[in-house]
Amino acid sequence: MNDFCSENWERKIQSFLHQPTQGVKREVQDHIRICPACKSALDEHLGIRKVLKVLPDEEPGEEFDRRLSRRIQFIKQERNRPVFRYFEVFNIFFTIIIGVMIVVLFFLFSRMAESIEKKKDKQDPPKQEVILPD
Ligand SMILES: [Zn+2]
Repeated sequence: MNDFCSENWERKIQSFLHQPTQGVKREVQDHIRICPACKSALDEHLGIRKVLKVLPDEEPGEEFDRRLSRRIQFIKQERNRPVFRYFEVFNIFFTIIIGVMIVVLFFLFSRMAESIEKKKDKQDPPKQEVILPD
């Protein structure tokens, strides 16, 4: 026996479970009569739904919240540890220093380019054209 039917039917059953409409219901009913793979898939889905309905969701929800808040608390504590605090401060200073260095380097570079330009002007006076006598 095949465990899978066609992808087309799997998708159709998924969409039927998501949004059960009369037309699709008829199609699915007719199909699962002849297709054991789809029937067992559908039974499984409906079984899971039934179980989810039966289970009360308050209990796991509270437990989940508790665990989540504990986790958040833990992360906060971690962040308050000196290493992390200093790391943040270090990051800020590092960013500022790098920024200042880029500005200074750019300034120095432009000054250097200017002085090179001036030196060139001094060293090579404009060449005079040699005028040959006729
Ligand atoms: Zn099928």
